[in-house]
Amino acid sequence: MKLYLATSNKGKVREIQALFSHLEVIPYSEVIPPFEIIEDGDTFKANAIIKSEAVYKALKDEDALVLADDSGISVAALDYAPGIYSARYAGEKATDKDNLNKVIDGLKAKGVTESPAFYTAAISLTSKYGTEVVHGWMYGKVIDHPQGDGGFGYDPIFIPQGYDQTLGELSDAIKSKLSHRSQALSRIEIMMQGMGLLGSN
Ligand code: IMP
Repeated sequence: MKLYLATSNKGKVREIQALFSHLEVIPYSEVIPPFEIIEDGDTFKANAIIKSEAVYKALKDEDALVLADDSGISVAALDYAPGIYSARYAGEKATDKDNLNKVIDGLKAKGVTESPAFYTAAISLTSKYGTEVVHGWMYGKVIDHPQGDGGFGYDPIFIPQGYDQTLGELSDAIKSKLSHRSQALSRIEIMMQGMGLLGSN
């Protein structure tokens, strides 16, 4: 069974392929030319739906299964920014590093060295049966300097609850046990099983 991913974010693709290693998970851009998807929803859920439905339509294959992830980090000291704007916090063409540095600058401007924060992932699945969405969260805190270079995005400044190292320092195995994305994916997998999309096993 082929599951198409409505993303070309390498960090997300790597994590979803590792978590769904029993399925054939293919970024849609390996099958059709990548195209711009305007994520103008005002929630993670709305943006995930926009992505999975746009790719399902473009694939022109009724039997396709398309999964989209819309995710981000919310930082209490920054009034829960960047949230749904996490990928473009420092501007439309910002890199992960630019975005992380903007959070660090924001903490410094508030005169704090750390702040409670959480990640959210909305995972949307579009198939011939329509679109379903689930969420997952990971709570912890952000700090004012990067540590480690594992993971992607804001991981070098995020320390999960119950740990004293950032996701940049912790192993992939620990992140996959804790993450917002893995929680949402295990929920969507249960849904896929219920819908008979994963066969009989
Ligand atoms: P999206 O592609 O519009 O969903 O934007 C997601 C953005 O949120 C990414 O570019 C990262 O900056 C951030 N993000 C989401 N999930 C993670 C994660 O697991 N680790 C680090 N950053 C993340």
